Amino acid sequence: MTKPEQNSHLVAVIGAGPAGLYAAQYLARAGVQVALFNRDIKPGGLAEYGIFPDKHKMRQGLMRQFDRILNMPNVRYVGNVTIGQQGDLKLDQLRQAGFQAFMVTVGAQMNHWLGLPGEDLAGVYQANDVVFHYTQLPEKAGWQPEIGENVGVIGMGNVMLDIVHYLKEAKAPRRVTAFARRGPTEVKFDKQTLEPVASCLDLAEIRAAVDEAARQTQEVGKDVEAFYELLAQARENAEDCDSGIDFGLKFLRSPRRILGDAQGRVRAVVFEVNQLVREGDQIKSRGTGQLEEIPLDTVIFSIGSRVDDGFGLPVVQGHFATTDAPRYPVDGISYEIYNPELCAQCEDIFVSGWARVPGEGIVGLARKDAERGARAVLGYLDTLPASALTADQAVQKLPPVEARLVNLEDLKKLDAVEQKMAASKGLPAFKFGTREEMLDAIDQA
Ligand SMILES: Cc1cc2nc3c(=O)[nH]c(=O)nc-3n(C[C@H](O)[C@H](O)[C@H](O)COP(=O)(O)OP(=O)(O)OC[C@H]3O[C@@H](n4cnc5c(N)ncnc54)[C@H](O)[C@@H]3O)c2cc1C
Repeated sequence: MTKPEQNSHLVAVIGAGPAGLYAAQYLARAGVQVALFNRDIKPGGLAEYGIFPDKHKMRQGLMRQFDRILNMPNVRYVGNVTIGQQGDLKLDQLRQAGFQAFMVTVGAQMNHWLGLPGEDLAGVYQANDVVFHYTQLPEKAGWQPEIGENVGVIGMGNVMLDIVHYLKEAKAPRRVTAFARRGPTEVKFDKQTLEPVASCLDLAEIRAAVDEAARQTQEVGKDVEAFYELLAQARENAEDCDSGIDFGLKFLRSPRRILGDAQGRVRAVVFEVNQLVREGDQIKSRGTGQLEEIPLDTVIFSIGSRVDDGFGLPVVQGHFATTDAPRYPVDGISYEIYNPELCAQCEDIFVSGWARVPGEGIVGLARKDAERGARAVLGYLDTLPASALTADQAVQKLPPVEARLVNLEDLKKLDAVEQKMAASKGLPAFKFGTREEMLDAIDQA
């Protein structure tokens, strides 16, 4: 039951991706006043700037849910503002304005590099940057990756497949090879994401790669048949491979060095051949020392991302460090940053979604995580008196920022303009490519 306005608790949710939106909904339904601060002008996070552009139905379904959340009477949207130690507003300033607790759902914004020689060569990219380019995140919409003829993608999850999908439609290189450090039974992609590129698979080469790994796969107690079944099922509903690219998979390979040509562009990658080892119930890879040079003119790392160290919270292994001894555990999980050894004033800070576990799963999982995290916040709020302020009043008390803040009314205007543009251009969707264009569209609407 929604209880708007005063005399309820006041929470700032930082980041309006799926985790932030669903956390806001959970808290608002419990009667909490929520202000939802977001770096981007638009809400949605990777649901807006990650999910492959042709998944219109899925995106529209999510956007309808997000709209309902943003229209809840006790949710206030504040877009186009970065929170954090190096942001427009610091958590402490939000605290001073009256916010009683913080749910940090800023996702995992930083690229994950392996620190290999040659990573700075021309033609070496991060999957996130390529994704942000084709989904038109303002900071990347005007940028273009230079894609050659022979592309290597490091990593074998769904994001790798989205990249191959984009290459097939927009760039059409001659060949794309994805490299995994482990074997065919450890791939992290699913049938639906493989379908758009399944008919591009170079089956003869993949069979040879699977054969090469098969003995080791058996030795660690795995069966490659399930992998073949996955490929076969994806090929049943596969789209045509009209651009004719060859899509290969190579297993048991970890990149060790990227080699450049005289112009400073990538020309090859040196991989170490791995063997599989079982550690408890986990299958891991271990280098054999055997090196192999594979010619590639473009390399895209698709090995996950990490949280932004500049946000100002303690970071451990790429994610915000939660305490091992939570005061409000939910289903045995800690959502609390509070750790007196790592941060001085953080008993009111909670974290969920990809900020808690970078790269973990799809929107549905981020939602579950956010709702569990919101339950932890409610446990903390129970120990505090209600606030005399509304979310609006607390936002008014914040120091002025340079950026032009965006509210729900602005979002509605922007949406109307973009829909009109899409209709006039005969497109299923239209996005402005820069923040300035978005803000102009809002101001002129
Ligand atoms: C390429 C790609 C494709 C995907 N495809 C699918 C798919 O098809 N289906 C599916 O279900 N899932 C898909 N996912 C997964 C899904 O997008 C994630 O599960 C989900 O978006 C994670 O939500 P989140 O809110 O934790 O983080 P994010 O979505 O990253 O949201 C973080 C939000 O925080 C904001 N933010 C960041 N820093 C700050 C700051 N300092 N201050 C204020 N705001 C800040 C950002 O602007 C953003 O709005 C995909 C992911 C990727 C990367």
